[in-house]
Amino acid sequence: MGRVRQARKTTARRSGDWQEFQLIDWIRQCTQNQAIRREIHIGDDASSYRASGTMNELVTCDAMIEDVHWSWDWCDPRSLGYKIVAVNLSDIAAMGGIPKRAHLVLALPWQQKKAVVQPMLRSLIKTLNRHQVVLAGGDTVFSSGPMMITLTLQGEVAPQEMLLRSQAKEGDLLFVTGDLGAAAAGLDLLKQYKKVPSHYTVLTKKLLAPIPRVEAGRLLAHSGKVHAMLDLSDGLAGDVRHLAKASQVGIRLYTEYIPIALATRVAARHLKKDPLFYALCGGEDYELLFTASPKYTSEIFRLVQDKAKLSCHIIGQVVNKRQGIYQILPNGSRAPLPAGWQHPA
Ligand SMILES: [Mg+2]
Repeated sequence: MGRVRQARKTTARRSGDWQEFQLIDWIRQCTQNQAIRREIHIGDDASSYRASGTMNELVTCDAMIEDVHWSWDWCDPRSLGYKIVAVNLSDIAAMGGIPKRAHLVLALPWQQKKAVVQPMLRSLIKTLNRHQVVLAGGDTVFSSGPMMITLTLQGEVAPQEMLLRSQAKEGDLLFVTGDLGAAAAGLDLLKQYKKVPSHYTVLTKKLLAPIPRVEAGRLLAHSGKVHAMLDLSDGLAGDVRHLAKASQVGIRLYTEYIPIALATRVAARHLKKDPLFYALCGGEDYELLFTASPKYTSEIFRLVQDKAKLSCHIIGQVVNKRQGIYQILPNGSRAPLPAGWQHPA
């Protein structure tokens, strides 16, 4: 692991003797008794509450810190502006929502040049505009620390269409959009090369410019055929665990059906890495992971492949909680899922 990923591992995911998900669980427990809890859901990709009228309001927030989530060695200002919007859009997409308004908090080092900030903000605003999202407010501050950019994104969804992580049902099939592991391979390439060979651009683009699956998320939510959904940001192995825990189910994953692009496989061989490790543990794929009854398989494929023009794959099945979370290897044997870097022992 390189410096940047290592920094993320220790700084973003662990703080002192806490791990990130332990901290989130503790906050959730502390707020369990709030009187308004019945109308507010936390723990999904976005929080939601019933606003006035007929729609649920969705709110999500993502922060990115220099030398933790990006390094200027391999990320340009325009990519940063795009990506902070894309990762937030992905969370709204995971709930089946329509993005509406954004608030930006920018913490800039004193010496930060206009030549960095302006293209970053132009790209951010252009990306918001493309999704008809209004930049409604925020704050800018200067600090002696590294640069930090935080975007809060609000969206809305009809209550009956909102998709949570907690509704997966035993017997459901597990679907995923796109392919996995490309962003992680792209990160390794960017750390290895000053100029990444052009035939790997498809991988670095997946890291620097992920496409949020807003349209597919809306189509799936509106169809009423999907039980549970989330976006893949922590690596398939980590996010499958989130789904299983929230839904109180087990998951059987078929390793050979996990979609990995040829470019990811070629790069993995070149970098002497396992492409499956990239797909299971790499993170930052920003694809959709969802469950639905097998009887809706052709309808799901029609929506994702024909309407949203995305590839779609069945990679596993929802099983009873007692069976746990595991993978079936190509030779038919059963193996535990790797923990990956998100869940250090
Ligand atoms: Mg998410």
